[in-house]
Amino acid sequence: MLALQGDFAEHARHLELLGTPVCLVKTPEDLRGCEGLILPGGESTTISRLLESSGLAVAIRDLVSQGLFLFGTCAGMILLASEVVDGRPDQIRLGMIDITVRRNGFGRQIRSFEADLEVEGLAGPPVRAVFIRAPVVERVGPSVAVLGGVRYDFAEGEALSVPVVCRNERVLVSSFHPELTSDLRLHEYFIGMIQSA
Ligand code: GLN
Repeated sequence: MLALQGDFAEHARHLELLGTPVCLVKTPEDLRGCEGLILPGGESTTISRLLESSGLAVAIRDLVSQGLFLFGTCAGMILLASEVVDGRPDQIRLGMIDITVRRNGFGRQIRSFEADLEVEGLAGPPVRAVFIRAPVVERVGPSVAVLGGVRYDFAEGEALSVPVVCRNERVLVSSFHPELTSDLRLHEYFIGMIQSA
């Protein structure tokens, strides 16, 4: 669990409830022995700066080539994307999943909202998704599967479907905050990705 800034405590709580050993990662040494890393919501520009100053950006890139799994939520999704629109020019793109995201893309007035959505691979009722100044996925590359989307009214009467949960072989991203509800299924899905490898 990346613990530089943002809502890592809520993610850690979800993992604990699932019986998963959790390590709060602040330095490259903390990553030793981790099979997966969650990058939480928060402020992507701040987390970006801390990833670079701590040496973790380099360490994550190295470990991914050795099989580390990644799960990014909201700001975490922005950090993992290959392309960021409306980001700060100096914020890092880890480029771990081939998507283009627009930072704060859901518009200025309605910056936060909730929606119920179906996510492929999650059995049971729809997922209650909490979006807080969330990124909009504007492009999905051929190596990426879309597991869930939301219909959103960007302009009056013009609802578009936007992917909000995507994955490739070892990287999962969501533009909402699964750690802010009591639903553990998306965290469980991520653990399943690691276990089935
Ligand atoms: N808009 C934030 C950013 O750019 C992300 C918001 C969030 O993680 N809730 O980092």
